[in-house]
Amino acid sequence: GTGRRTLVAGNWKMNLNHLEAIALVQKVAYDLKPAELETVETVVFPPFVDLRSVQTTIDGDKLAVGYGAQDLSPFDSGAHTGDISGAMLAKLGCAYVIVGHSERRTDHHETDAVVAAKAAAAYKHGLTPIVCIGEHEDVRVAGTHIEHCLTQLAGSLAGITPKQAETIVVAYEPVWAIGTGRTASAQDAQDMCAAVRGKLAELFTPEIAAGIRVLYGGSVKASNAAELFTMPDVDGGLVGGASLVAEEFTAIVRSGP
Ligand code: PEP
Repeated sequence: GTGRRTLVAGNWKMNLNHLEAIALVQKVAYDLKPAELETVETVVFPPFVDLRSVQTTIDGDKLAVGYGAQDLSPFDSGAHTGDISGAMLAKLGCAYVIVGHSERRTDHHETDAVVAAKAAAAYKHGLTPIVCIGEHEDVRVAGTHIEHCLTQLAGSLAGITPKQAETIVVAYEPVWAIGTGRTASAQDAQDMCAAVRGKLAELFTPEIAAGIRVLYGGSVKASNAAELFTMPDVDGGLVGGASLVAEEFTAIVRSGP
């Protein structure tokens, strides 16, 4: 989109042990040219247990690929067995954290209020949240997907200040397109991303909305990324399956403007 730096985010989900993570991040980072990484911000999201290895690899080799986590606790510390705090992620050098992915909303019953609390926790610890929204197929069939997603967006951003919103990233991920091979059409992605930007203008200001990156996610591949990324309100992609294959992921990064 206009004036916004394209962002390609690779969500590895629950895949790759720490040795496989090192191998993949090296392949991706050495294959992409500095100029390509300058044009398209490229960030990977390994499982928690891989973050230290990814950090060491990226820092040690001064690689221009960013990394972040797939989730964080809304709490700062304490009696929350199995959870990971924003402070821990910041200490590992994470720049971003995904919040409200549909798989978290489904597997862990995360509500918009929980997602908003996680986004707030991210900012508190100096991390930038990538806030995910998206409709299930029945909502798309009923034709109420835009209002559904805008309600989800407002709820997931509750309490976020205008200053925080300046750096936030929103990912529109229709649930029926995630991991199914059924990508939304570029026009459908554009229509929703434009509606999201309109809502962001209402929640914050038009100037802030004009600077926020809105990504599309859902079966993004090398073969469809270029068309999606040329749409005016689509500022990049959140990529799941295709981010696990170095050649496929780098081809998606190269599909940026
Ligand atoms: C995702 O995990 O956010 C995603 C969009 O997955 P996939 O690209 O595999 O559909």
